[in-house]
Amino acid sequence: MADPLYGSAETGWRAPPMSPPVTNYPPPLDSGVLDGGALDGGVLRAPLAVAVEPLSRRERLWVERVACLGGNIEETVQFLFEHRYGREPRDPERRARGDERYANPREYATAEESDDINTLDDLRRMVGNEYEAYNNRVRGEFDGMTSLVQAHFKPNRDAGQEEMLEHYFKLRPLYCSVGIDDPKDVVFDHLVMAQFLGRNVVVHEQVATQLQDLEATLNAIKPQLAAEMRKEVTSAGGFAPRIVANTTTTSNHALGLALDINANNNPHIVNKTVIALIKDVTKTDARPEGFDFGQTLLETDQPPPQSQEERDRRVDEITQIHTAAQQASLDLQAWLQKALDEEKNGKLNLSNLEAMVNEWRLRIVNAVDLAEAEGYRAGYEEAQRELSQAFNEFASDGTQQRLEAFRKLVGPEVVQLWADEGIRNLPLDLVIALSVDLNFTWGDEWESSKDGMHFDYLKGLDGGVIIPKRAFRGLNTVLERGPGGL
Ligand SMILES: [Zn+2]
Repeated sequence: MADPLYGSAETGWRAPPMSPPVTNYPPPLDSGVLDGGALDGGVLRAPLAVAVEPLSRRERLWVERVACLGGNIEETVQFLFEHRYGREPRDPERRARGDERYANPREYATAEESDDINTLDDLRRMVGNEYEAYNNRVRGEFDGMTSLVQAHFKPNRDAGQEEMLEHYFKLRPLYCSVGIDDPKDVVFDHLVMAQFLGRNVVVHEQVATQLQDLEATLNAIKPQLAAEMRKEVTSAGGFAPRIVANTTTTSNHALGLALDINANNNPHIVNKTVIALIKDVTKTDARPEGFDFGQTLLETDQPPPQSQEERDRRVDEITQIHTAAQQASLDLQAWLQKALDEEKNGKLNLSNLEAMVNEWRLRIVNAVDLAEAEGYRAGYEEAQRELSQAFNEFASDGTQQRLEAFRKLVGPEVVQLWADEGIRNLPLDLVIALSVDLNFTWGDEWESSKDGMHFDYLKGLDGGVIIPKRAFRGLNTVLERGPGGL
């Protein structure tokens, strides 16, 4: 009689019925499985020859998707087995783990385990063929790219062609993960060298077209502004195949649809502690909250302005954001300079307490004088502010701790750079030209972490949305859902 699970030569292959995944390996010693697995009622059963069905069209598509998302052959085979047969493969190595008698567990494989080993071998061969086809396609794709594009896949300066290709294989899943299965056709074939205020940037041709108008737009804001802005721009970057810092999201730079301007002087601050620290030290009387590098200041996610009125409103919003960020940058710079200075002069331990007390006493007396001269309310408010600030300074002058925290989080060189040059330096007019007139989205408008150097061109790729809004399935999800979940 044919084995009901595995069929026979007469009945042909049949998939085993669904069973729960095996999780309790190794089985208990007295279960009879460990020693007697190969025995069936005391008789050694010969392994059955199992004909493994070729990959279905759906399975082949699934394998290709997994490869595209950066999977590897072995995990593909393991998941494919589980999806086909509804259980994990029986594995003598796992059963024998820790048992010295099984120097070569395969020799001791039960008939069922042998069948599974053979099945896995067949699947491995078929999946391997699909991977080879995929790899050949990617190799051809890479060979077809211009050297300008290829060079962006150098893992290091001296990397040769082979290393670049290898690196390309590693980065290509970034595109699959946002639904771009053919990045050469969608992105790389459209990358061009463009001019940005006298600097070369590699960007998508739609961004290049947009940038052609930049100098004229600037000069329309103010004569000779373009020439002025050329001096303000110290660096510009475009296409870069990578993720958004601190995320797993593909960056718009990977699509050639983003620009970074003066990167060192307009850092993308992502660390939540750094954001909190900056907010903390940039408090002033006039702006008790400072500029929050982690929160939206204004909702500015809007279509391009259609009228002068709309343009004015948008300019106003960009100006508000720019002003607040610029002020925060100045405040941070001032705070860091003072802290570093005090540290250098050994003044960071409140040893100058008496001088501080006297200074504050004088300021409060002045505030009270103001109250008498100008009427009660104004002077009262002034005195309140002076008192609360004095209180804050005396209660916790955590300057040293804050300075140490900055150093630990961003590094001493960056702390020095921020103290010397601040963290925002893009001129307002340049930001307005790009984000109001040329339809870029500015990183300082972002909802969470602010990226002051960064401008996205989200109108590109056939006028549609570039970074797809719907979440594409990642590698793990695609593996777990299997061919049926495509
Ligand atoms: Zn950027």
